[in-house]
Amino acid sequence: MAAIDIVLLGTGSPIPDANRAGPSTLVRAGSCTFLVDAGRGVLLRMAGAGVAAGQLTATLLTHLHSDHLTDLNDVITTRWITSFAPSPLMLVGPPGARQVVDGILGSLASDISYRLAHHEDLTWEPAVDVTELDEGVAYDDGSVRVVAAPSDHRPVRPTLAYRVEHDDHAVVLAGDTVPCEGVDRLALGADVLVSTVIRDDLLRSVGIQRLVDVCDYHSTVEQAADTAKRAGVATLVLTHCVPPIPPGNEDEWRAIAASVFDGEIVVANDLDRVIAG
Ligand SMILES: [Zn+2]
Ligand SMILES: [Zn+2]
Repeated sequence: MAAIDIVLLGTGSPIPDANRAGPSTLVRAGSCTFLVDAGRGVLLRMAGAGVAAGQLTATLLTHLHSDHLTDLNDVITTRWITSFAPSPLMLVGPPGARQVVDGILGSLASDISYRLAHHEDLTWEPAVDVTELDEGVAYDDGSVRVVAAPSDHRPVRPTLAYRVEHDDHAVVLAGDTVPCEGVDRLALGADVLVSTVIRDDLLRSVGIQRLVDVCDYHSTVEQAADTAKRAGVATLVLTHCVPPIPPGNEDEWRAIAASVFDGEIVVANDLDRVIAG
């Protein structure tokens, strides 16, 4: 049975971190390569994973928070400038994604004109095929299927979680969310749940309101572990940890998740790989 391959490209958050790129995850299934979100440094980490921008089947955006799409411009530009024939980037995201892409392409107008003028064999502009979804099938080639469902990251809305299915295996990317019906539905019976998490005990103890606000719309480690337990997944991957985990403290976060969920727990670092199947 063919497996699904996950590479945690960027495990950081909006807080700049010397060792963690911004949120982005690579999922390879069958002949497909999906990029889920495109945070800070995504192409550096894709290079680390041995994947070029031109190899992406589709980019899937969970939501339109800046930390999840800061380097989408790099994905679009690099795919374009390294291609030798038109290869539109397929992009799926919540309503509003098209406006973001149009804005990025607008900001690249000068760059596009320079390169078109300079390279005689480059005769097409970068193109992005955007599909805006509230939920439903995001991709289906008969062998690999991607299904989206609403997550709950309010007041940010709409937001999406994704389930990638291939050959009796399934991986769920919850994105930024609190526990909710949509993520529960996607995660049920999946092999792997990738969840962004926070420690509300630590964030509240700092006493800075902007950090306390972060607790409103993210799952705590315990909540993510509880979602994993309810869904019966084999592996829970914790990423986008806020506050950032000081090196060597991963076991503390893993122990909190293990107090709720007795499956495999991965506290992800950049370029960690997890196999479903
Ligand atoms: Zn967010
Ligand atoms: Zn985020």
